[in-house]
Amino acid sequence: MKFFPIFVRLEQSRVVVSGGGETAVAKLRLLLKTSAHVEVFCNAPVPTIEDWAANGRLALHRRRLENGDVVGASLFYAADEDALEADRTATIARAERVIVNVVDNLEASDFITPAIVDRAPVTVAIGTEGTAPVLARAIKATLEEQLPQSLGLLARVGKLFRTQAARLPQGLPQRKFWTDYYLNRGPKLLNKAPERATEALDELLQHHLTQPPAAGHVSFVGAGPGDPELLTLKARNELHDADVVIYDGLVSAQILELCRREAVMVAVGKKGFGPSTSQQDINELLVAHANSGAQVVRLKGGDPTVFGRLDEETDALEPAGISWHIVPGITAASASVAAIGQSLTKRGRNHDVRLMTAHDMQGFAEQDWRALARDGEVAAVYMGKRAARFIQGRMLMHGANPSTPVSIIENASRPDQRIISTKLGQMEADLRSAKLTGPALTILGLAPRAAQEHLQQEIAL
Ligand code: SAH
Repeated sequence: MKFFPIFVRLEQSRVVVSGGGETAVAKLRLLLKTSAHVEVFCNAPVPTIEDWAANGRLALHRRRLENGDVVGASLFYAADEDALEADRTATIARAERVIVNVVDNLEASDFITPAIVDRAPVTVAIGTEGTAPVLARAIKATLEEQLPQSLGLLARVGKLFRTQAARLPQGLPQRKFWTDYYLNRGPKLLNKAPERATEALDELLQHHLTQPPAAGHVSFVGAGPGDPELLTLKARNELHDADVVIYDGLVSAQILELCRREAVMVAVGKKGFGPSTSQQDINELLVAHANSGAQVVRLKGGDPTVFGRLDEETDALEPAGISWHIVPGITAASASVAAIGQSLTKRGRNHDVRLMTAHDMQGFAEQDWRALARDGEVAAVYMGKRAARFIQGRMLMHGANPSTPVSIIENASRPDQRIISTKLGQMEADLRSAKLTGPALTILGLAPRAAQEHLQQEIAL
């Protein structure tokens, strides 16, 4: 991030613009929405600027900008439409210690003006650091459609009501009240009877004041394999609402970004075979946070019910009388077969599929190897990187064909996804030489589909 977005107070400040053409007009249109004192310096202003000056909306100086004109201003815009002149005026402003925007010249600017969706006091600023103005406009158009015009009014009415709402306990109860107001009752109210807004807010507050305090709760939420678009809507909503998020190492950073900004974030994950929070500690954390009345999200990679130690955690909640529920997620096996363009099951090939782990509490996990060794069997091996030699050995010992296809998918669904296509007899060697660093799933019995391989190559090109 080269440019950091902030909102600057322009009340009772001066903003100086050099230039009187259409470029200046575009900036002035935005600046005139603020309560800043706007001054324009130019020899030949276009009529729009003349009109604004005549209506007292800005101060117009019909001469070029000179030393001393920018002293004390908060912002300066060089909108001169002439590179040399812009350079001259920007130099004057900088010498007077004012931050400068040279319109349409990112490199020469100290700050840039974002695309704005204006529902003041709700303002959305969109910036692409000059890389993609078209994208900024597209985002703006989408938001313009989505945000109701009444949003500004809703926020202004809400603001007047803040002191009363402070009668609710801080944290969750207040948040619930405001959520109800902004997203549920407020918009309906303002459409129907804006004049009754304060009265209705009072009723809403009474309703919330008489609600018994919420009991803590734990949601076991599946974060999916990594791509944030593979989150369920329900998971996303839970992340928006959580007071506390206790998450594993497998959960991608982009998904953590979706959590409410004020949420307490607790990392308990382990990466690979590195250090981790003990299961006992995780259980205690869950109980302690839920007992304090928090809505806790226990965020697990993939689906929480697949090799997720879910039951150890629910077993800890039950004696403490803490309620919980599960929000399923897309498990690594689903994402991995999708990556190779294959089905987990197929008529005439396999009518069952195994999700297995190569590790259990005793070390390598034993399986029904004889069944697995049959032609056409499909199995997804979780946590299998270190067990490749063991799996290969057991399968071959039980009569599996060494040319059984094996696909290894690292970082399934993530931008750094890799697919290794091998055969059972080769898998240990191929896995070793691939030097995988991310989570990887081994699929026994399936090869990437040809079309999919083609696609991969194209992407690599
Ligand atoms: N609950 C998770 C699995 C947890 S066990 C799920 O449903 O997916 C951790 C193992 O899952 C890893 O060792 C790896 O084998 C697999 N895994 C998780 N995310 C993965 C991903 N994005 N790509 C490939 N394998 C993944």
